[in-house]
Amino acid sequence: MKRLLLLVLFIPCALSAQTGQSSKNLAEALTAHLLHLEADPNQVASIANFSFTRDAGTFNLKNGKIYLTKPFHDKVVAAIFIGEGTFSMTPPTQIEREHLARFYKTQSLEKKFTSLFLIFNDSTLTEFQLKNTFSIAEISSEVNDLLKAHCRYIADKDYECLSDDNSEILNALLNLKHSPLFYASITDRTSGSLSGSISPLSATSWSSDPLFFEINPYDVENVTLMRRNANGKFQFSKEIISMFSEKSYSSLPIYLRSQHKDMFRVNRYTANCRLGKDIELDAVTEIEVEPYKSETEWLYFYLFYKLKVDSVLFNGQRASFYKPYESSEIWEDSYERTSCWIQSDDLFKSGSKSIIKIFYKGEIIERIDNDFLIRASTSWLPLAYTTYPTTKMYDITFIYPSHYKLACTGSKKSENTNKGWTTSQWVTKNPLPSFSFNIGFFRSYKIKNERIPEIEINMSEADHLEIGAELVKEGIGTGKDMEKQVGADIANSYSFFQDMLGPNMVDKLYVTETFGQYGVSFWGLINLHWSTFQRTDESGDDELLRSHEVAHQWWGYGVTHRTYHDRWLSEAFAEYFGLWYTQIALNDNKKFFKFLNDYREHIVENRNSLFEKLIGADQEAGPIWLGTRTRTSTTEGDDDLLIYEKGAWVLHMLRNLMLDLNTMNDDRFKKMMRDFYQTYAGQTAATEDFKLVTDKHFGSDMSWFFDQWIYGSDIPKYIFSYRVIPTKEGKFKVYCRAEQKN
Ligand SMILES: [Zn+2]
Repeated sequence: MKRLLLLVLFIPCALSAQTGQSSKNLAEALTAHLLHLEADPNQVASIANFSFTRDAGTFNLKNGKIYLTKPFHDKVVAAIFIGEGTFSMTPPTQIEREHLARFYKTQSLEKKFTSLFLIFNDSTLTEFQLKNTFSIAEISSEVNDLLKAHCRYIADKDYECLSDDNSEILNALLNLKHSPLFYASITDRTSGSLSGSISPLSATSWSSDPLFFEINPYDVENVTLMRRNANGKFQFSKEIISMFSEKSYSSLPIYLRSQHKDMFRVNRYTANCRLGKDIELDAVTEIEVEPYKSETEWLYFYLFYKLKVDSVLFNGQRASFYKPYESSEIWEDSYERTSCWIQSDDLFKSGSKSIIKIFYKGEIIERIDNDFLIRASTSWLPLAYTTYPTTKMYDITFIYPSHYKLACTGSKKSENTNKGWTTSQWVTKNPLPSFSFNIGFFRSYKIKNERIPEIEINMSEADHLEIGAELVKEGIGTGKDMEKQVGADIANSYSFFQDMLGPNMVDKLYVTETFGQYGVSFWGLINLHWSTFQRTDESGDDELLRSHEVAHQWWGYGVTHRTYHDRWLSEAFAEYFGLWYTQIALNDNKKFFKFLNDYREHIVENRNSLFEKLIGADQEAGPIWLGTRTRTSTTEGDDDLLIYEKGAWVLHMLRNLMLDLNTMNDDRFKKMMRDFYQTYAGQTAATEDFKLVTDKHFGSDMSWFFDQWIYGSDIPKYIFSYRVIPTKEGKFKVYCRAEQKN
C-alpha cells in the first residue's frame, strides 16, 4: 500500500521532467525583463533641476535626460537618468553617522553622478510623469549598454537570474501593486564621455565605485546604502555601508517596532530524503505554510544552488515555480543558495494554512576520497526568508547506503536496515530554528552519565593514521584514543555549563568530525574539524574549540540572538564560557589570560601598523552592535574580532566589575548569566534584553557601559594592579585594582 502511494506521488515528477514548462511563468519572465531592460523610445524626458527624496536620501537631477524602460505587463518598473546630478544622504542615528565616517570620512555623504538607474514600485513613476514631459526620442546604444551595466549588480555572477540578495525586488514587484520598494544605482563617469569605449559588463570601467541606495519593504531596517564589493572575485556584489529604519519608524509605538515584515511563516517540514550511492540527494519535502498577508501570489524560498526542482504541488495541485540551478561539477564558494519562487493558490491567498510539496534533487555533499563535506548545511531544505529567526517542527526521514553513519539535529525516532539501505527517521520535540545533519564513515563512542544527556562522538575512521604518519615527520605526535579525549571535553564542558546555567532541552548530543568549518553547532549536533580529532594541542585551543561549540547549545540555541546586531550574544558568550571551561579544565590561569591578552592585542593592532597608517588603510573597526556588518571587503575579519574577541572581553569586564574583591567570589556574575539564560531560554534575545538584566543585577542603569563597549568603538585598556598583605592567621589578603586607561 505504501509503495503504491509513493509511485502515484512520483508521477508528477516524471511528467515535469519530460515536458518542462512550456512558457515562462511570471517570476521567470519578470527576471528576464529586469536583466534585459531596454529604454522605451516613446518615453524620454529632458530634465533640469528636478529633485526628489526617499527617506534619508535626496537625489538632485541638475540636467540631462531620463529614459523610462519598456513596460512589463503594462507596468513601467525601471528608468535611467543620464546627465549631471548629486545624491546626498545623512543617516539618522549617531552610530550610523560614525560608521559612515569610517568609510568616507564624512557623516553626511554627497556624491556626484553621471547616471542614475532606478527600479521602483512606489510613487517614483507618478512623480516623474507629473513634473516632466515624456516624448519620442532616439535611443542611442549607450543608453541600453548603461542599463545593462547597472543591471550587472542585481544579477547573479552568470547573468542568468537575480542574485539572492536582490530577492526583495522580485518579491515586491510580483506580489504588491504598490509598495515602498525603491532601488537606485548611482555612478559617476566624469573621466570618460558617454560615447567613449565602455565594456558594459566590466566593473572596472566605472571611474569610481558605484553606490546603491535602497528602500526594502521586507526589512525592519529598510533603508540601506551599499557600495560595490572591492574584492575582485565578487566585483558585482554589493556590501552594506549604512543601514537603518525609515524616519517614520521612530514615531511608531515600541510594540510595533519589532514587528516582522514576513509574508508567511513555515510551521513544519516533513521530508523524505534519499542519499544515493554517490551520496546525491533526492528529496520530497512537505512544507506547512501559513500566510500573514492574504493575496500573496508568489512565495519566496532559498534552496541550495545545485538543487534542481522537478515539480511542486500546492495543496495537492500542480503549481508554477521558478528555481534557477547550477549543474556544473565545480563547487562554488561564492554562493550557497539561490532563489526558489513558488506560485500559491486561491486557498492560500484567502488566508488558509497550506501544504507545499516540493520534489527536488542534486548534489549537496562534496566527497573527497573518504571525506565528506556537507555544502548545504541547512539550505538543502527550502528556507523562507524571515525578518527575525523563527522556529519550525521537523520530521525528516533519510534513506542511505548502510555503510554510512548519519547524525542529525533532533531525536532518532526509528532506524532499520534492509538489503544494504538504512532508513532513519528524525523528529524534533520542540520547534527549532534550523535542521542539519552529517554523514560519513564514522566510528562511534558513547558517553553515558546520568547527570547529562547521552553523548555520541562520531570520529572518521579513515585518514587519521595517514595524517599521523605525515605529522610525525614534522615532529608532531598524534593523540591516543582521540574519541575519548574529545568526548571528555564535550562531557565535562556540558556538565560545567549545565551547572552554571541550568539544563537545556537537548536529549542527546551528537558530535561528528568534519572537513569543513573549524567548528559549527546545531541543536543537538556539533561538527568539529578533523584536526581536533588528530591531537590535543598544548595551547588550550582544542579545549576552547570543543567547549565553545558545546556552549552554543545554551548561547545560540537555548537563547537565540535576534538580529545581526545581537550576534555577540551567541558568539562572545560561547567564547567566554569556552575560555572559562578551558581555565578550569586545564587548571591554568596563565593560558586563560594569554587568550584574553592575545585577543586584546588583535583588537589594538587591527590595521594599526605604520604601513597601514602611511597608506591611509588604518580604518578603525566599528562597534560590536554592528555585528556582521563590520566585515566588508576592506575590513575583513572585523566581525570575528569584535563579535568573538572584543565581546569576550566585555563579559570579562562585567565579571571583574561584579567581583567581590575581599573574597574574589564571582557569584554575582554567575547569577546574572544564569538569570539571563533562564529568562530567555527558548526565545530570541536582543542586546537591549541583556542590558536590562545587567541593570537589574548591578542595581543601576548600565547605559554608560553599553554605550562605551557595545554601541561605541572603544577598545578595552585596563591596568590591573594588586597588593598582597599577609594576615595574622598566616594567610594572604590580595587587593586588586582595575583602572580604565582610556
Ligand atoms: Zn561559535
